[in-house]
Amino acid sequence: MGYVDREKEYMSLKGFKSLVADLKALKYSGRIELCFYNEPLEIKKLNEYLQVIKSELRGCTVMIESNGVYIKDAKFVIDLFESGLNQLKINIYSDGSEKDIERKGKWMMKLADYCFEAAEKLGLSLGSKDMYKSTKGIIDIVDKRFFMMEIDGEQFSRVNCSLFSEEFGDKNKKTRNKKYNFVENRAGFLNDKFENTEMVLKEPMKETCTLVFRRIHILHNGDVALCCNDFKADVLLGNVFETSIEEIWNSDLLNMYRLRLFNKNRNNKMCSECNVGSGFYVHLLKGVTFGDDLDKEILNIKYLTP
Ligand code: SF4
Repeated sequence: MGYVDREKEYMSLKGFKSLVADLKALKYSGRIELCFYNEPLEIKKLNEYLQVIKSELRGCTVMIESNGVYIKDAKFVIDLFESGLNQLKINIYSDGSEKDIERKGKWMMKLADYCFEAAEKLGLSLGSKDMYKSTKGIIDIVDKRFFMMEIDGEQFSRVNCSLFSEEFGDKNKKTRNKKYNFVENRAGFLNDKFENTEMVLKEPMKETCTLVFRRIHILHNGDVALCCNDFKADVLLGNVFETSIEEIWNSDLLNMYRLRLFNKNRNNKMCSECNVGSGFYVHLLKGVTFGDDLDKEILNIKYLTP
């Protein structure tokens, strides 16, 4: 579902277990998000996948983003959290029309009821119930009891239910990068929709990007993509069923991207058309180096393509 049609394909439980074993060997204790422009709640045996993480990677926290379509009752949500989920974020988009806002708003409140009922039954630590308005409705529930301490803990320490409103546009414009527009044209994949408009970058932005320093993005078939916007792995960094995650994480190709992005050089495959901002935790980035001479050469490559 989404802008691009993709086949419904899943990582096998066997493959998932081998991936988790790889992470366990690395003593990984960070965050795992079971979503990548897909609908994770569609997987019938999702609870089994969650249980594998819960039993093998005890220090990790697990998050799912969903459109909520498959949530039929509170029990569904309870089962997820009992299987090991720590955060469930449901995003519901409205086209902004009165009719759609009314319809989706009702549905959203129903989902919110399920989530709040589940949270109450499980005794989750809920945080505040912020209500604010946007054209994107969000229900965000977090099990703080087992949630790892994020650097910016606030970001994940809430149960949140936002409603729809046209105010969203104005509110968001203030926080987005005005110079490069406020619509995120991620990796340029809206170029065909915004042809001949200012949404399509004329030249690469001169900004860093933290994604390649913070995350690894794995598709259902084990392919590792450059970032969460590279959902077809056009920049293929390796495959976790053939090469260890550690090797891929430290690969020359990924380090070349890091070196160039750290130096605000986005003239790379995928990045050159991307208007996503720098991302979280820029102040924590540490540059990578291949040695002074090689660094210069890599930074001088006109357009980096794998
Ligand atoms: S700049 Fe590159 S790495 Fe960062 S989000 Fe865009 S395409 Fe991905």
